[in-house]
Formats: sequence, structure tokens, C-alpha cells
Amino acid sequence: MADPLDGRVVVLTGAGLSTDSGIPDYRGPGAPVRMPMTYQEFVATPDSQRRYWARAHVGWSRMGSAEPNDGHRALARLEAAGRVSFLITQNVDGLHERAGHQHMVALHGRISEVICLDCGGRTHRTVMQRLLGEANRGWVEQHTAVESRPDGDVDLDETLGFVVPACQGCGGRLKPHVVFFGENVPKHRVARCYAALDEADALLVVGSSLTVMSGLRFVRYAAKAGLPVVIVNRGVTRGDPLATVKIEAGCSEWLSALSRGHEDVLGGLDHDLGRLA
Ligand SMILES: [Zn+2]
Repeated sequence: MADPLDGRVVVLTGAGLSTDSGIPDYRGPGAPVRMPMTYQEFVATPDSQRRYWARAHVGWSRMGSAEPNDGHRALARLEAAGRVSFLITQNVDGLHERAGHQHMVALHGRISEVICLDCGGRTHRTVMQRLLGEANRGWVEQHTAVESRPDGDVDLDETLGFVVPACQGCGGRLKPHVVFFGENVPKHRVARCYAALDEADALLVVGSSLTVMSGLRFVRYAAKAGLPVVIVNRGVTRGDPLATVKIEAGCSEWLSALSRGHEDVLGGLDHDLGRLA
């Protein structure tokens, strides 16, 4: 029986991969229904920006200290072994990079970068964190017992009095350099992903519910091109109808087993391969 992951594999990862690093998946099973701030909300008023940065300032202490887990490390090993040709991640936490992954696109950007909406200037998030701290002494200490979110945000209703630093270059508005809901992924990033799929033999999706089109489009693209699509996720995904194989498993355990060459990781394969061909 053919192994659909035997060849050049492009991997797409989502929030489920980082839950074992302590970053919660707000779309995973049992997660509360919450809407993150949209791009349109963020740019609409200084109040929205204050609300965002006040929460992000507190959330950063957690996001910033997260470490790569066995899943990130397994993928980096699979790349080094030539089994993963390219990685697309929807995560903004930078943990794949820290695990040593080389050929990849952070589809939604990186939370470690800040961009000025007015002059385009970029600064590192640690610089922003220092400026936020200097402008709001004691804020983090007063708000430590709050729940964190995968985008570095936290639940925090009371943000009055919080001061948001302006761009040091032009005095403009600062935004984390990540793709917000309601914002498009830059075209050149998407093009790199399609190019990688054009060279690939299979697509492996790990830890994404494929709720948003930014990820789902790659599953559709791969399926249309006749590539096998393997989806590993706890819970239903929007890509399931297009999957060659769907596996309900934890990301870290499954990827670790795959990187060790366990042949049973594609359990139920014989049955599911009926949908191939
Ligand atoms: Zn600026």
C-alpha cells in the first residue's frame, strides 16, 4: 500500500501545534467562542488600539516565554531528513523558527515584529514591550491573573488610562506585524506557498481546523492538483471532505512518531486509501 507521505511533503500547521507550548487554541474543541479584534476595528479608533496594546502588553510575557515543543522539533528533524520540503504555518508565535525550521512561510506574520501603519517602519516587539512598560509602569503586575489567547491577547476589559507609544520615526500608529482578521495575507507569501505545492508530492495539515480561507485554499489547491492530503487534528476541520486520510490525534505525539519512522502513524490508511486514485 502506497504511503501518501512518501516524497516531498508540504506541511501546513495551525494553532493546535502550539497548544503543547502553552499557547491556547481558541478554535479547538472546548474553546470559548470569542472574536479576536479585526483589522477594521484596530484601525478605526485610538481606543481600539489602546485596548489591543493593553491586552497584548500583558499577554506578551506569556507568549514571549513559550518554548518549541516536540511537534515543532519533530518537523524540524523531518525537514533536515529531507522528508518535509516546505512548511506553511498560520501561527505567529515564531516557534517553528526557534525549533530550527529553515524553509517556511509564516503566513500570518510574526508577533515578534511591530509595523508602523503610517511610515511602514518596523521594530522588534521587545522594543515595543519596553516602551509600553515605560509608559505604563506597574500595568503588567496589576493584570497578571488574566487568561491568555493564541494571538498574544488577553481578556481585559478595563484598559482606560493605558498609554500607547507612537512610532519613534513618524509619530504614527503601531500595529503588530501580523495579519488580523479582515486583512489579506500578502500576495508574495501566498505565491511562495503555491509554488512549494507545485513541486510537492503531498500536503500534510497538522493542528488546524482550516476555519479561515487563508489555510483552506492550500488544501483545495492540493486536492485539485491530485495531491494526497493528510489531515491530523483533534476535531472536525473544513478540509475533511477533501482529505485522503484524516487522523484524530495530538500533534506533538503524532509528529514525534512520524519522525521516528513509526509505520502505524497513518492508522486506518488501507481503508482510507480507497478515496485515492
Ligand atoms: Zn512611523
